[in-house]
Amino acid sequence: LSAWAQVEMGPPDAILGITEAYKRDTDARKINLGVGAYRTDAGKPYVLKSVAQAEQNILQQSLDKEYLPITGLAKFTSAAASLAYGTQALDRVAVTQSISGTGALRIGGAFLERFHAGKAIYVPGPTWGNHGAVFRDCGLKVGQYRYFDPQTNGLNLAGMLEDIRALPKGSLVLLHACAHNPTGVDPTSAQWAEIQKVVEECEHVAFFDMAYQGFASGNVDRDASALRSFVEANRAPVLLAQSFAKNMGLYGERVGTFSIVGADSAERDRLLSQVKILVRPMYSNPPVHGARIAGEVLTDAGLREMWLGEVKEMADRIIRMRAALRGQLEELGSKKSWNHITDQIGMFCYTGLTPAQVDRLASEFHVYLTRDGRVSIAGITTGNVQYLAESIHKVTK
Ligand code: PLP
Repeated sequence: LSAWAQVEMGPPDAILGITEAYKRDTDARKINLGVGAYRTDAGKPYVLKSVAQAEQNILQQSLDKEYLPITGLAKFTSAAASLAYGTQALDRVAVTQSISGTGALRIGGAFLERFHAGKAIYVPGPTWGNHGAVFRDCGLKVGQYRYFDPQTNGLNLAGMLEDIRALPKGSLVLLHACAHNPTGVDPTSAQWAEIQKVVEECEHVAFFDMAYQGFASGNVDRDASALRSFVEANRAPVLLAQSFAKNMGLYGERVGTFSIVGADSAERDRLLSQVKILVRPMYSNPPVHGARIAGEVLTDAGLREMWLGEVKEMADRIIRMRAALRGQLEELGSKKSWNHITDQIGMFCYTGLTPAQVDRLASEFHVYLTRDGRVSIAGITTGNVQYLAESIHKVTK
């Protein structure tokens, strides 16, 4: 008898299941709106030109493959911290390279489990499907605050503030810095100011997840403004998980950072020493190649300029596809309001489609998305948007 005979088959990953169903479908009109990765208007994965050039520069240097320090490549982490925080507070920020955004959340979860008394973290309802699993596997309890309003397909600000205010003083609150996944609903800057005020009054800890800097507005500074405003006020403790998967298209290279903002540089040093103690037994030190690429893009003036242009280009294509989808639905005479398609921002749109409508889209129209009605706008192209609008119109009539 095997030692693992009692191990049961686990459920498949919801999003990967969609990709498989899409692959099996042989219809030429099929559309995959499940994938959380950018696609060009030809529906293809995109290697950024700035990234390809940076990789060439690095190859020409014939660098060795020695280990990085526990906290990773300093040229990359310091440039990444400036990208996130701007020019302020950098002498207070304890930063380490991470295995992309997921790895950063994992280090943050482990840090909070070790040093925070409450041991519960509160995430928006709904949130990225992996947040709960990551934090639970770190030994934290996971709670929820209200976020999305299905009536308006927008933000439930009153519910959010009420829930955050009702948490025990000093609670851990996870906030999406921009381009909320899965809803595409971000607070306005006035709403962010109210959220910040409540978090500060309640002495909560703000853990920002920034997986899409630049992807929401097309501007990396604008997308970091909520984070920067918290840090500038310096009243709430701040942690940050930063990913370069989407905004540099470095998905599989696993490039990110985790950082904590200390009260001063002495506290930063103490925090960083503890982060090292967490990382060392987890994976010892991070991979080098992707960090070299991102470090080169961020610090070479020409490549950085090129990259910022490419980020804007990706964000703009997504914004254009939102407008095209809404426009087509309105042109078809849909009686429903589709304003939320263009009000929402970033890679994802919470359409308000029901699970039954999503099932019909797959079985009758070869259009694949998650059953919560989330559409990855990156899967929409000028070539398929009309067919998509017709299909959505037919299942929502
Ligand atoms: N956080 C959010 C909200 C995300 O949507 C994602 C990716 O989809 C991540 C974190 C982590 O991604 P990665 O680990 O690829 O950086």
